[in-house]
Amino acid sequence: MSEWNNVEIICIGNELLIGKTVNTNAHWLAKRITVLGMKVRRITVVGDDLDEIASAVREAISRKPRFIITTGGLGPTFDDKTLEGVALGLNLRLEENEEALRMIREKYERYYAEGRIDSCEMTPHRVKMGRLPEGAKPLPNPVGTAPGVFLEHENIKMIMLPGVPDEMKSIFDESVAPMIREASGNLTFYEASLDVRNLPESELAPMLDVVMHDNPYVYIKSHPKRSEGTSHLELHFSTTSDDPKIARQRIERAILQLSEMIKRKGGTITPVKD
Ligand code: ATP
Ligand code: MG
Repeated sequence: MSEWNNVEIICIGNELLIGKTVNTNAHWLAKRITVLGMKVRRITVVGDDLDEIASAVREAISRKPRFIITTGGLGPTFDDKTLEGVALGLNLRLEENEEALRMIREKYERYYAEGRIDSCEMTPHRVKMGRLPEGAKPLPNPVGTAPGVFLEHENIKMIMLPGVPDEMKSIFDESVAPMIREASGNLTFYEASLDVRNLPESELAPMLDVVMHDNPYVYIKSHPKRSEGTSHLELHFSTTSDDPKIARQRIERAILQLSEMIKRKGGTITPVKD
């Protein structure tokens, strides 16, 4: 499905595929992108392998999302292959980018002045982080060394972020969130949750059909839970709008209608606070 607000995330790293690292970057990005009003349509995880990265990028491009965001594999070590993989996937050359090299050089000069490293020489491994696909631009990394990378390809904004969560988050907040906010037309995501007890999910299902039909802009999802030995349901209501008042009214209306139906069947409801 190619829609104007689609976003795809590609996470790169063998550690994700062998269960060593929990993919918290995907979770964090999905939440932030949703709150900023865009829709994450797919999250792909691939290893540190050139062909795997290139084919994941090509496949994502074929679906024509508005943004493709990758995380991981931007560092100086041999297993950091994201930029080479992206270049391969798009048939672009890698070239030394002056601005990226300047950002990297400044970082090492600072680490050297602070006595954290023995030399600020631009070794091949350090230069590697400044070799970007042709036409790409570096995005400043406020907390680490490898810059993020921005590339526009066939009207798709591609953003490559590091794997280290703090670095990924700070580049996203500084450089990527404003682009996504602008692309979404300042849409915002609103949500509310209810805890429902004494009602089986099968009895709730037809009620959800009615309420979702009557409230077409509200998405309702039931999440079965088990705690303290009893089963219950969390009902999650969400909508996207550029007007907070309208969004709140939509959610309140849907909650009111569903609450009345649940109470009539003997269920109990309490709001869930984050
Ligand atoms: P660096 O410049 O620091 O090398 P990088 O872009 O090369 O950054 P990676 O080498 O891929 O990043 O990953 C660095 C660390 O970040 C990994 O050891 C891992 O702990 C963590 N990491 C990578 N990907 C993820 C992810 N998707 N979710 C959570 N943590 C991750
Ligand atoms: Mg690395």
